[in-house]
Parts: sequence; C-alpha cells; structure tokens
Amino acid sequence: MPLDQYQREINYLRISLTDHCNLRCVYCMPINGLKFFTREELLSPEEIAEVVRVAVSVGFRKFRLTGGEPTLRHDLLDIVRRMAAVEDVGDLAMTTNGVLLPDLARPLAQAGLRRVNIHLDTLHPERLSQIMRWGSFEQIWRGIEAAEEAGLVPIKINAVIARGYNDEDVAQLATLTIRRDWHCRFIEMMPFGIGECAGVAEEKFVSNRDVRARIEQELGPLTPLPGDASDEAQNFRLPGARGVVGFISPVSEPYCGSCNRMRLTADGKFHLCLLNDDEMDIKRQLRENGPEAVRAILLKAVQLKPIGHRLDQGIFTQNRRMFQIGG
Ligand code: SAM
Ligand code: SF4
Repeated sequence: MPLDQYQREINYLRISLTDHCNLRCVYCMPINGLKFFTREELLSPEEIAEVVRVAVSVGFRKFRLTGGEPTLRHDLLDIVRRMAAVEDVGDLAMTTNGVLLPDLARPLAQAGLRRVNIHLDTLHPERLSQIMRWGSFEQIWRGIEAAEEAGLVPIKINAVIARGYNDEDVAQLATLTIRRDWHCRFIEMMPFGIGECAGVAEEKFVSNRDVRARIEQELGPLTPLPGDASDEAQNFRLPGARGVVGFISPVSEPYCGSCNRMRLTADGKFHLCLLNDDEMDIKRQLRENGPEAVRAILLKAVQLKPIGHRLDQGIFTQNRRMFQIGG
C-alpha cells in the first residue's frame, strides 16, 4: 500500500471521465458561460486503463468513475471493460446522476462495473427541478431502479442539501432506507460554484448537524453503525430500517486525517486533494515516456498529498470546480 508522509494509506483513485454534464445543479454548474475540455484533451480508454494498471501495481485497489457526468462518455463501456480486465482491481464503482442509467445499467454491469452512487437531492419533483435544474425526478428514479435490477448494489443515494431548496425533504429521503437496503448519504455543500452558482454554498449551506436533527425529529433516533476509517460517511440506522443513513460533513467535521484518495482529472492530471490546487500532469508523460514515468509521478503525488483545509473559516483555495476535478 502506498503510504503518504502523514502515514495515510492512499489506495483509492477517483477517475473523472469528462467535465460535461446533462444537469446543472445549482451549487455546481452555471447554465451559461462554461468552457469544456475538447475530446483531444481527454485521456483515451487505453490511456485510462494504462494508468489503472500503474495504480494497481503500486497498491491502489479502489477505483471510481466520476465527472462531470461519466455516463456522457460515448466510450464508457469500453473504459469499464478495460478497467475491469486489469488484474487485482478490487472495487470498481461509479458516481452518476442516473439519468442515462435506464439504458446503461445492464451493459455497465456486464462490462464489469460493480456499484453506483446516484445523485438525487430530493424526492419532490418540483423542488428537484429547482435544485438539479435539468432532468426530472422520474428520469433519475428510473435510473436507480435500473441500477438495482442490474445488480449495481448496494444502491447509494447522494444528496447535497441547500437551505430553501431541499432542506425540508431530508426526512423523506431518509425514509428510503426503511424498507430498502439502500444507503442515503447527506453531503455538506462546499463552495465550488462559479457564475450564478458562486454564492450558493455560502448563503444556502446547511450543516449535517441540522440535517441529522431534522431526521431524528421526524423519524426517530439514529443508531450509529461501526465506523470504517476509509469511508468518508458517518453511518447510522433508523429504527427498524434495512438501509443506512450516512452523513458526509467535509465542512463541519473534516476527515482529512483518514483521506485515502487520489484523483485523476479527465484531462490527465493527478489532483492531489479535492480542496487544494496541487496537481501533476501525466498525460504528456504517458504519451512521451510510457507507464514507468506515470508510476514515478504517482508515487511522488502520494508523497506530496497535502492534509487539511480551512472551509470552516470560509477559506477556500481551488481553481478548478467540482465538475472539473471529479467530485
Ligand atoms: N454528475 C455526477 C453526480 O452528480 O453524481 C458525478 C459528479 S458530481 C461532481 C459528484 C458528487 O459531487 C455528487 O454526488 C454531487 O452531489 C457532489 N457535489 C457537487 N457539487 C458539490 C458541492 N458544491 N459541494 C458538495 N458536493 C457537491
Ligand atoms: Fe452535473 Fe453532478 Fe454537477 Fe449536478 S453535481 S451539475 S449532476 S456534475
């Protein structure tokens, strides 16, 4: 296992496939004024598989595809197939808004994808249109059902909570875990927006302390479940429930000390920390000098991985946006 200078085991690579998206969540992407990577700037399926082989060779075992919206890559199945074929790839998962899963879930499972996390901020169709803007509740719900039918389980739902948009809907989301063995995870909003999204995190931020209090008030006490140091969520169960309610609280309760991840951006850079600008280019090295050069850079990236952020003091230094890093 690669250890960084803070003795953290870094064994989880999140791979962004694109910065494009078919939704425009109000805290993530503005409707207009965006400039996207060109197709030539993106890593190809062969190159992604090469990086995965290198990562496995140094001890990485968990891989997740993300974006932007990863299902928009026309060569997604090829990418998954190539990654799944790499020996010793342990976990292979994807984070998606689910809109395209009705058609893609089964082929993705057949290609070797194991699980999906699906982003759904509310069960209320009108409020969903206000917070996720494009796309509809029905589309995402059909995507979740398709994922479950295809065996991409356990289903994990990710909801980002914004005051005035969906904070009243948290208990209803949590009830999904009562009869289903799903995970419903509430994510604190981070200040990644640009354009008209820029002020949202500051003005509409809701602490997970408030989310939890609201769920307990409406649905009863949450019982803590045993912790897993590599899971960023603190997990709980509602009375008599089959599933899990999780809280991911990067702002109010940072978990940098147990962070085990490295990120690969769609344009071929190791991005050392979601909340920090540091990154190392590998696309040119891979194209000019091959996998050995990538291996050296990855080991160095692990060594240089920073620790800590100051989101709780309102201090944020990051040039890329969430959809450009891979959330
Ligand atoms: N499009 C896919 C999706 O929405 O799941 C994958 C990419 S998205 C950037 C990954 C995750 O980041 C989603 O679960 C989303 O809820 C979360 N996210 C986006 N913007 C965020 C923000 N400003 N603060 C916290 N989480 C955010
Ligand atoms: Fe798209 Fe995901 Fe960002 Fe929403 S959070 S705009 S679905 S990339």
